Amino acid sequence: MKYYILFGPPGAGKGTQAAALAEKYRLRHISTGALLRKEISAGSELGLKAKALIEAGSLVPDEVVEGMIESEFDSVKDVDGFLLDGFPRTLAQAEALDGILSRKGEEVTATLSIMIPDEIIFERIAHRAAIEGRADDADPDTIRNRIDTYHRQTEPLVDYYRKAGKYREADGTGSIEEVRERIFSLMEKV
Ligand code: ADP
Repeated sequence: MKYYILFGPPGAGKGTQAAALAEKYRLRHISTGALLRKEISAGSELGLKAKALIEAGSLVPDEVVEGMIESEFDSVKDVDGFLLDGFPRTLAQAEALDGILSRKGEEVTATLSIMIPDEIIFERIAHRAAIEGRADDADPDTIRNRIDTYHRQTEPLVDYYRKAGKYREADGTGSIEEVRERIFSLMEKV
């Protein structure tokens, strides 16, 4: 099994690019953000706890997302691998992922990073707010906190995967098609 991580700041276009990648390489796309939003709309206990954190632009606890990821790995069979979107987002989650995979005799295949500067993050999220109506896209303070959370807690993972020789980066500016071609060409070199 292949285990790819789609990495990048909020609004980098991970969800958009994940669909094309998953189809081309027969991967199961797992978005922790989408899984959490499903829990919120189902009104589950987990969803209720996650809602306030997400709407403040903070992260939900590591154990919550780690549990979700592990159960997805265990329930999906007929694919060539997985494409993780929005996970890991902290060093603790990255270490937990290594643990989960090593218990299966597996490891992370590669991290594909989509990079955009902070000013573009704002534009992209404002644009998406109008289309998707996500509560965490609507408020500028929430967006600022998400960007800040990304820099403080998630960006250190660049070094973590670079040291492991598993980090590949694509420029995420430009059109959806341009970015897609750049990511496909990264995949060819993995
Ligand atoms: P974006 O791509 O805009 O960052 P996501 O849909 O990936 O949005 O995530 C939305 C929110 O869900 C995050 O801001 C965070 O609160 C929560 N979340 C998603 N994935 C994780 C994770 N791995 N760990 C903790 N919180 C997460």
